[in-house]
Amino acid sequence: LVYTGRYTDWTREAILAEVEKQMKPSRFQHVLRVEACSIALAKKYGASLEACSLAALLHDFAKEHDAKSMKKIVLSQALDSEMTGYGSEIMHGPVGAYHAEKVFGIMDRAILDAIRQHTIGGEVMTLIGKVLFIADYIEPGRTFTGVDEARRLAEISLDEAAYFKIEKTIIHLVKKELPIYPGTIHVYNSWIQRKV
Ligand code: GDP
Ligand code: FE
Ligand code: FE
Ligand code: FE
Repeated sequence: LVYTGRYTDWTREAILAEVEKQMKPSRFQHVLRVEACSIALAKKYGASLEACSLAALLHDFAKEHDAKSMKKIVLSQALDSEMTGYGSEIMHGPVGAYHAEKVFGIMDRAILDAIRQHTIGGEVMTLIGKVLFIADYIEPGRTFTGVDEARRLAEISLDEAAYFKIEKTIIHLVKKELPIYPGTIHVYNSWIQRKV
């Protein structure tokens, strides 16, 4: 996939090199699998391959950044300060979107929102957002119970797969007695209220 320059001046290869510097090798491999999976879903569902590739390559850019620098960005960008109470888990999406704009010059709202929302989903999600949300969940390296059902649903409907992830994530967090970020609940409520 060769980038056209529509979304960023960076080449795909230069982005890969910069992303690789931000994380351990195993996570970089995850990023590459999310990209491959995103491109496959983009082809199936008619999304922009270039936009989905970019969102995937940058989605976990901030995941291993230190909590202090992430908190600084959350506060300076007037993001929901409540997300600082969940380690990197909730912050790395919104902070990743910030870097996508600042470092790579991405201005496309759908790409930035996809990165921002990739962990918890969104009350409203674009096609690109759904592609990344699902690809991150079902890439071939994922082995959790239920991933096969998620992969099956992704063949049928992105919305069904997204709803599945939203529901299973809540169940998983409750079972593990982990605190649930209010935004995670908001997204769940929004999706369940729209479900037929
Ligand atoms: P990754 O960055 O590729 O590992 O994947 P994600 O960005 O999707 O998820 C990061 C982690 O955040 C996962 O383990 C989720 O279960 C977890 N997570 C999602 N929502 C919440 C929440 O509301 N609270 C907490 N504590 N963790 C959450
Ligand atoms: Fe992530
Ligand atoms: Fe990820
Ligand atoms: Fe609220």
